[in-house]
Amino acid sequence: MTDVTPVVLPAAADFADWLDQRCETGLRAARAAVDRLKGGEATSAIEALRIWDEGQTGMSNAIACGSVFSEVHPDEAVRARGDAAVQEVHKLDTELQLDRELYDVFAALDASTLDQSAARLLEKTLRDFRRSGVDRDDATRARIKEINEQLTTVGLQFRQNLRDDKRSFRISPDRLTGMPQDWLDSHEVDDDGLVTLTSEYPDAIPVRTFCTDREVRAQMVEAFLNIGWPSNDALLKEMFELREELAKLVGYDTWADYDADVKMIGKGPAIPEFIDRIAEVAQSSGERDRAVLLARLRQDHPGEDSIGGVDYPFYEELVRKEQYDVDAQVVRTYFDFQAVRAGLLDVTGRLFDLSYAPVTDVELWHPDVTAYDVELAGETLGRIFLDLHPRENKYNHAAQFTLTDGIAGRQLPEGILVCNFPKGLMEHDDVVTLFHEFGHLVHHILAGRVDWSRFSGVATEWDFVEAPSQLLEEWAWDAGVLQTFARNAEGEPIPADLVAAMKRADDFGKGYHARTQMFYAAMSYWFHTDRPSDLTAATISLQDKYSMFSYVPGTHMSAGFGHLEGYSSGYYTYMWSLVIAKDLFSAFDPEDLFAPEVAHRYRDLVLAPGGTRDAADLVEDFLGRPYTFDAYAAWLAR
Ligand SMILES: [Zn+2]
Repeated sequence: MTDVTPVVLPAAADFADWLDQRCETGLRAARAAVDRLKGGEATSAIEALRIWDEGQTGMSNAIACGSVFSEVHPDEAVRARGDAAVQEVHKLDTELQLDRELYDVFAALDASTLDQSAARLLEKTLRDFRRSGVDRDDATRARIKEINEQLTTVGLQFRQNLRDDKRSFRISPDRLTGMPQDWLDSHEVDDDGLVTLTSEYPDAIPVRTFCTDREVRAQMVEAFLNIGWPSNDALLKEMFELREELAKLVGYDTWADYDADVKMIGKGPAIPEFIDRIAEVAQSSGERDRAVLLARLRQDHPGEDSIGGVDYPFYEELVRKEQYDVDAQVVRTYFDFQAVRAGLLDVTGRLFDLSYAPVTDVELWHPDVTAYDVELAGETLGRIFLDLHPRENKYNHAAQFTLTDGIAGRQLPEGILVCNFPKGLMEHDDVVTLFHEFGHLVHHILAGRVDWSRFSGVATEWDFVEAPSQLLEEWAWDAGVLQTFARNAEGEPIPADLVAAMKRADDFGKGYHARTQMFYAAMSYWFHTDRPSDLTAATISLQDKYSMFSYVPGTHMSAGFGHLEGYSSGYYTYMWSLVIAKDLFSAFDPEDLFAPEVAHRYRDLVLAPGGTRDAADLVEDFLGRPYTFDAYAAWLAR
């Protein structure tokens, strides 16, 4: 239990058994801790918390191991056992949250003798219990159980409708002008001489972006923005009602209050205030850039006085091509994968004063994976794994996964970056993604020497967690930084004026993009708070208020808006983190992003504490003042 050496991964043949064993050990530790607590073994509050945290560490080890290997392991048997482990941990977790006897143990503890972080742990633990309703009377708890079961059923059905509702239509291939050649090559002409288009992303996005035929784009938008309609409409309304009832049963005024209570934003009504604030600061640059799109639209279709979903992705791409002369084919020649990976380690090493020692004498789950021990001032902080190339049956997005949470004196933090980049030349977007995800990884490692597993790594408020990752993206946009590793085949570093042009092109549309995001955030908040009877009418009115693009008649986008289930009333979170990230970045010297004093302060004051303090306090410590919108507003106005 006091072993602070890294986890030893097994050889391929032993992996499934090893995974089972690791998960079982974790679950057993969790159950044993609960038995000890309920058996009255702890004689003080601190002892009780230590026992609890040991059990929670077991749970987190089990779920971490199960989640990551269910997503990345090449062996199907291992993936299946990873999935099963995740289910088991979730089941135990739900059971514990509703365990009245266990709650009573914590409720009776005397907090007066606890230090700040232990008192915080007790407070958060009690809050979790109360949010689950464990302290309510029997009838209320029975109703809560019913609601949770119904929410699970409704959520499952909602997601299944999204997956199953594949719409398609056929058109003549001569109407596909503008489509990229590789896309055309993968779309065969059938016996009737027609090509089938579906509402899935691999068709919907390129058709909306590149197809010059406006009618084809319109057909695609109609298919795409009706996914889930009408079946999901009633499910959404039921979901909002159930969530509201649940929130009230456990003592909150609204679902948004319940959800915001564990976030940096704190209270439900702060969400629409935030949305309106962003909408306001985004207005002028949004209108400025939309006018460019509209002017270009009018060259093709004189007399148009607004621009909507059928046209704006297409004209945005066209304007970028015609007015921002950045050739993606040239850009990628500077980003060879091997050099980028080495550059990322070099840049973050310099920035945070870390070194990465390659680990070569261990078993890994695939030959593409590389491992490094992360060292600071000669001390090993933790271990990272980079699993960065696509392969069959592997997780197909980009994310940081935990292998272990770091706890001072007990467990080293280990994290795994899972991405899907080519082995040769990368797009600059990929480079930005790599820096973003690495921001999560370095947060996980640096915050791996806290006292409690509950506060380890990225265990900060959910609306803050994207700030460190969005902040690190800035280093992938800085010419001086990029020139340290981005070189073409002739060995020439990427020209600063090319980076400036890339930045200008990327900046185009950021105001109206923010407005679109606030339209979605407003749906997520108001649908939960007002629970309108006609979701389409409410969507149209919010689109009118926040989005800079007009509603496409006959569409019902709310039925296909999956984040209403996942983010519930909190879709604002990503933008909230961005506001904070811009504010954090304002403390760095734009002329020298490596200046050590500020970088080390950021490392020690914002990243290293993990969840031991409120994010707002960490940010204030670092900036020397509370966070503001100023840096974000200035960036938008640029
Ligand atoms: Zn992220």
